[in-house]
Amino acid sequence: AKLDGRGTFRFFEPEMDARMQARRQLELDMRQALARREFQLHYQPQLNLKTNQLTGCEALIRWRHPERGMVSPLDFIPLAEEIGLIVPIGEWVMRQACRDAVSWPAPLSVAVNVSPAQFKSDRLVEMIVSALATSGLPAARLEVEITEGVLLQESEKTLQTLHRLRDLGVRVSMDDFGTGYSSLSYLRSFPFDKIKIDRSFVKDLAVKPDGNAIIRAIAGLGQSLGMTTIAEGVETPEQMERIREEGCTDVQGYLVSRPVPADEIVRLIGSCQ
Ligand code: C2E
Ligand code: CA
Ligand code: CA
Ligand code: CA
Repeated sequence: AKLDGRGTFRFFEPEMDARMQARRQLELDMRQALARREFQLHYQPQLNLKTNQLTGCEALIRWRHPERGMVSPLDFIPLAEEIGLIVPIGEWVMRQACRDAVSWPAPLSVAVNVSPAQFKSDRLVEMIVSALATSGLPAARLEVEITEGVLLQESEKTLQTLHRLRDLGVRVSMDDFGTGYSSLSYLRSFPFDKIKIDRSFVKDLAVKPDGNAIIRAIAGLGQSLGMTTIAEGVETPEQMERIREEGCTDVQGYLVSRPVPADEIVRLIGSCQ
């Protein structure tokens, strides 16, 4: 390490330097990606096991980077979250998802992931109201997916925002259920419409002897609380059968379809009608 011109230490650890530089570059690229229209939404359908009909689709962001190709949201959403860029990106996602979903036959809905940093922004509810109004999508056809991270502070403000969304007619889902520390207590603080059972539990179905028990328990919980329970990451017919037996109401996963671009989802929806 040595002092640089401004009197601050600079560490010349090549690995660290390379990582920091990659991160800085990613940040710069991400700041331009919106204006350059490099983001795109893919949609993954959700299927009701009783009616065998699609209920809606989850919007999943994709980044078509000019040099790197497709960048996974797992590789840029956390950074976007950290530096606050998720607010404008999330707004783009919300507006685009509403615009896309309005052309789907009613009552199909669109589920949009909303991150903790977005919840801290004062404009979230107004932005959603505006996205609905501009697109013409009825509030009842929008679903907001939140993770435990949103509720972690469990501030009055967060709950208030959730209730304001609910009052608009927007539905609220608890994403990645069971992976956090206090999933259960969150069900007590807010009446979710839907519980999304994390993919890790679905994976356990095949490999753990009592892998069914947790899914059965969550499905029972959902039933008593009047919440839809959807299993995520369903990849095989065997998993789907088990999940049906254990009482989950809905499934999402590669077995039904991978996430696909907007024009393809329209065709897929059409072929299911
Ligand atoms: P998530 O919200 O839990 O989304 C589900 C992820 O599981 C998606 O990954 C989806 O492609 C993947 N998946 C679905 N079915 C299967 C399956 O059968 N098998 C396997 N192995 N995977 C399956 P994806 O699209 O890479 O997104 C990863 C995460 O990035 C999301 O997890 C979500 O946390 C975040 N994300 C994606 N789009 C957005 C967005 O627009 N806004 C925010 N805030 N976060 C987003
Ligand atoms: Ca989600
Ligand atoms: Ca999830
Ligand atoms: Ca997840």
